[in-house]
Amino acid sequence: MSTELDLSRRPAKPAATGPVNLSGLSLVKIREQMEALGIDAKKAKMRAKQVSHWMHNFGVTNFDDMTNIAKDMRAKLEQNHVIERPEIVEHKVSVDGTQKWLSRFGPAIEAESVFIPDVARSGALCVSSQVGCTLSCTFCHTGTQKMVRNLTAQEIVAQVLVARDALSEWPTPSENRKLTNIVFMGMGEPLYNLDNVVEAIDTISDCEGISIGRRRITVSTAGVAPKIPELGARTNAMLAISLHATNDDLRDEIVPINKKYNLECLFDAIRAYPDLGNSKRVTFEYVMLKDVNDSLAEAVDLVKLMKGLPAKINLIPFNPWPGSPYECSEWDKIETFAEVLNRAGLSAPIRTPRGRDIFAACGQLRSESVKEKASDRLKARLADTTPAAE
Ligand code: SAH
Repeated sequence: MSTELDLSRRPAKPAATGPVNLSGLSLVKIREQMEALGIDAKKAKMRAKQVSHWMHNFGVTNFDDMTNIAKDMRAKLEQNHVIERPEIVEHKVSVDGTQKWLSRFGPAIEAESVFIPDVARSGALCVSSQVGCTLSCTFCHTGTQKMVRNLTAQEIVAQVLVARDALSEWPTPSENRKLTNIVFMGMGEPLYNLDNVVEAIDTISDCEGISIGRRRITVSTAGVAPKIPELGARTNAMLAISLHATNDDLRDEIVPINKKYNLECLFDAIRAYPDLGNSKRVTFEYVMLKDVNDSLAEAVDLVKLMKGLPAKINLIPFNPWPGSPYECSEWDKIETFAEVLNRAGLSAPIRTPRGRDIFAACGQLRSESVKEKASDRLKARLADTTPAAE
């Protein structure tokens, strides 16, 4: 027997129509907003460029600062639009200068971003593409958080704007920047949110806006093989692969997406990445897990896997998190592992962990956001429409 709930008599709620936030929107989307104001197509394109330039090159958050736009036009814009950053729930600064932000994009929609100042004159911002993750890699803290939802392109770009605000990097400097690179290595799997990642990269790399070139944007994937060549074709970005194991048995266990796309399938996809060559190498990330993947035999296998590929390997000492089931390999073991790779002519730097004290290092990111269950949403809706007992 089954019971069905009749929700058809629910009064239709008018769609919420608040002002639209323009901050972080793509040129195409800003233009659509201009057209919705009744501006004709050609002028709308020009206006969109002006507004985007003010927001993403000058960092303004006020329409009145857009001095080359007529006053009445500014007033019109202000009536229907805002320029807002996400709420910053938490901002932490590590002893090593690494900074971490927890941004709130909506009720229970929170994601982290990390700025890693480098030793050289460069700094990378690690952005999240999803709240939570579906992949459950066994060594990754984000993997213990259930998937909540994809971030929109605007929410991804907002993470860059927040960092630029904190670094006081407005207008976009043409040289001596603190923020020079973007890495999609925060929470989530970017290739499971490819459309939004592509749109965000278009906005981040727009040379009249944030202007971080595509060669300075790296997208990391755990191995969503069919989407890898598409990522290259649509973004021209740099590719990073979270490899972590050299045989299918171990990779099936620690990076479970390998059961769907095994090493052979993954490497076929990597070889199909457009424009690979000496100036465009694939980065392989390899987390060093004590007695799991750090033997000399595995270093030799790794060399074999890299054969014929323009590649570099980042050896990442495992970063622990509460309840994590692994330990980091001994330091001399990591060094011996690196030596095998170096002797084979491979670049294999050992990454110094950054921001461990504020839980900002690779794989330590996680937020408390949980997805509201459909049954809870239904309960809330019923409570909304059921007259209260007298
Ligand atoms: N889902 C994508 C994007 C996340 S990138 C991907 O897997 O590539 C985050 C990087 O940190 C990945 O290489 C991931 O494997 C690595 N990582 C995860 N947990 C880690 C940990 N505890 N210590 C060190 N690196 C970790």
